[in-house]
This record gives sequence, structure tokens and C-alpha cells, in this order.
Amino acid sequence: MKINVNELKNHVDEEIVFSGFVDAIRDKKWVMFVILRDATGKVQMTIEKSEEANKELLDIMSELTVESTIRVTGKVLSNEAVKLGGLEIIPSKIEVTSKALPLPFDFNNLDGVNIDTRMDYKWLDMRNRRNTLIRQVESCMTEGMRRYLYENHFTEIHSPKLIGAASESGSDVFEVKYFDGVAYLAQSPQFYKQMALAGGLDRVFEVGPVFRAENSNTNRHATEFTGFDLEFAYIDSYEDVMDLEEDLLIAGLTAVKEKYGEEIKEVFNTEVVIPTKPFPRIRLKDLYQELHDRYQFDIPTEDVGDMNAEAEKLTFKLAQEKYNSEFMFVVDYAATKRPFYHMRDSEGKLQGYDLIWRGMEITSGAQREHRYDELVKNAQEKGLGKDVEFYLQFFKYGCPPHGGFGIGLDRITMLLLGLSGIKETQFLFRGPNRLTP
Ligand code: ATP
Repeated sequence: MKINVNELKNHVDEEIVFSGFVDAIRDKKWVMFVILRDATGKVQMTIEKSEEANKELLDIMSELTVESTIRVTGKVLSNEAVKLGGLEIIPSKIEVTSKALPLPFDFNNLDGVNIDTRMDYKWLDMRNRRNTLIRQVESCMTEGMRRYLYENHFTEIHSPKLIGAASESGSDVFEVKYFDGVAYLAQSPQFYKQMALAGGLDRVFEVGPVFRAENSNTNRHATEFTGFDLEFAYIDSYEDVMDLEEDLLIAGLTAVKEKYGEEIKEVFNTEVVIPTKPFPRIRLKDLYQELHDRYQFDIPTEDVGDMNAEAEKLTFKLAQEKYNSEFMFVVDYAATKRPFYHMRDSEGKLQGYDLIWRGMEITSGAQREHRYDELVKNAQEKGLGKDVEFYLQFFKYGCPPHGGFGIGLDRITMLLLGLSGIKETQFLFRGPNRLTP
């Protein structure tokens, strides 16, 4: 196995094999400095011109373009004069493993480069440290949250993304040709998470693709994104769901801060803040009042009972100013604005919430309706018939009370790093006008 840049310090005075990209070539009179790069950092390779034995190595390097890849056999030396980590590689053998053509743009300076060009050449865009860091942070956040769930006896499941009926609300679903008929792409794993609970697993989660045929061009919506969804049984109320989400996010953010906190500050100029429990919670009615009193904001008539983008932004402001928190739970949404499977109490009050972070909704969660008769009634009220019939069956043969939520992973990453939009955040953005690369 190759030694990574961040491991070289453990191999001083040893002969090693290093493979990576040629980041830069500095051809001086007496010496050639070659900066090599891998996913963990950069290192200098030094080739003295006065050494007769180096002639072949210099010939290879002088013909090579930057961003080509090479495999170097050589010795690691400690040298305080070297700015890059005080180490250098003195090569005895260089093999060219791939040659690069001239690049369409300079990925080290993306300022003037159009976001569409960057997406067209995503694999070059990613060579900017900032962009590999986005992926590593997202991976670390997922790992932290997954670890928390495993430690708390959750089972990871994988539900199908090809489904036979347009689920939930029936809107925003992609239809695909399926042999002689049609299928749909899953809008969320909601129904299947709940089915797993009806199957006797009492804590499940899934991290997987979610498809939404939303023809919107906001900075926060994609047509395919990664959902981090969970569901658990034997809860007393949706308060239990909010409690668990607090712990889950704290676990994820702690993992990110420990591993990448410093680098995030340096590269993105953003602090990773670990929230404290409990996150502030507010009723929608009281929130409207606060937003009116403090910021002269009134929710438009069509959004009454719900939030809109401006309300989410101001809610973050309120959370910071009044509660010194980046997070805020909002409860008491109108039942008409929420899916039929969210539970309502005996007065018809919705047993669910949204979580707002840094000015945006990152989660919808709720206690779910597990009582068959109530569920049928709610579905009928929403005008849902045949499409949810299969789902209703899950609740006929005993099903524990339960609740859960779905987090948009891409959105969390975007907000965590203070990025301008989901196009920049996603590994490969999917939107109304983009299906490639
Ligand atoms: P929004 O109101 O922002 O469209 P939603 O109410 O449709 O979101 P849910 O169905 O509750 O969202 O999905 C759960 C989470 O998934 C959201 O809180 C959000 O973080 C994320 N999410 C929803 N739609 C998208 C999308 N099109 N692209 C990226 N993330 C999304």
C-alpha cells in the first residue's frame, strides 16, 4: 500500500513508495522541486541536478505536465528548510502512471469560474482542497451520526427506490418506464421505515437517495439528494423524537469538530458549534408573534400554519438573539400542511415539528399515526385512496407507537460549511436542468 502524505512523518530515513498527483514543478538552476499531492496533503520531492544518477529522473519530470500522476520510490528526509511539513522525498525511481492534458481552468482559483463549468468538470473542481474537504466533512458527519445510532441499538436498513405507487402526497414524483408498465422513484423511505417497525425491529435508520420532481431552482433543492432517515418505536410523544435528534446532531457535529474543526475554520472561515441541550422549542403561533414584534414580519396568507423561506431565516435570527442557539424546533404546524401519517392529538393538534438551523429547515419529524382507524381517516381526509392502501395494511396486525424524522444530509453539509448553495455542496448535483456528469 502507498504511504499517504500525512503518514510520511512516521517514515523518516526510510525507503518508501509514494503515489500522487504532480501539483507543481519548480525548475531551478541547480535543483528541481516537485510538489506532490494526495488526498491527505502535499509533499516536496527534491531532485538535485548535480547528481549524475538523477539525469533520467530529470528527463522524465521535465517532459511531464502538472496534474499527471506518478509513482515514486525514494527516501523520506527531514529538512527544516522545507516549508511543507519539514519533509522531502529524495527519489531513486519515478514511474509516470498517467499524463494530464492542459486543464480547462485553474482549480486552485475558482473565483471567476462559472458554477456550471465547475459541475461539468466536477472531478477537476474537486481537486481544490476546499472541495475534497466538503466530501470528507460530510462523510465524517454521517459516520458520527451512524455511530451514535449503532451504539443506541438502531438497525440500518435499505429500502427500495423503485416503487409501484406514487407515495405520500402523490405530487413531486418521478415516473419511470418499467418493462410494459410504470414505476416511481421513492420520495422518501418513510413507509418502509414504518413497515420495519411493524415487522418487529424497534429502531431503524437508512441513509440513501431521495428523489423529488421539484421543478424549483432554489439554492436548497435538488431533484436527488441523500436522506438520513430514522424511525423508532415505543415513544411517548414527539418530544422523544426531538430529544433523540438533539443527541444525534451533537454526536455528528462533535465528530466533525474533532477531526476537521481547525481546517474548516481555515478553509471556510466558519466555526463548528456544538449545540447544548435542549434546543429551544417554540409554537408556530408564538413564533409568528415574535417575528412580527421583532422584525415586522407577517406570514403570507397562503403559508399560514406553515413556514416559508423568509420565516426560516428570521427564526434563525430569533434563535440566536433570544436563545443564543443556532437551532430551533418549531411545533404546532397546521395538520392541513403536513402529511396524513403525522399524528394529531384528540384536539386535532399535530404531533410533529420542523428543525431550523442557520436559517433553513433541515428536518421534519413527528410521532406517526399507528392506529389503523385514525390513519385511514387521515388518508381519506387528504383524498388519498388506492396509492396508500398497501401502506395502511402495515397497521392492521399490531404496530407499536413510534416516531421519527428525515434529515437532508446535503443541506446539513451546506449549512455546516456556510456554502452558497446545494450545487456546490453535492458530490454530483441533480436538478431540473442537470443530469450529467
Ligand atoms: P422543503 O420545505 O425545504 O422543500 P420538505 O418539507 O419537502 O422540505 P421533507 O419532505 O420533510 O422536506 O424532507 C426532509 C428533509 O429533507 C428536509 O428537512 C430537508 O432538509 C431535506 N430536503 C427536502 N427536499 C429537499 C430537496 N429537494 N433537496 C435537498 N434537500 C431536501
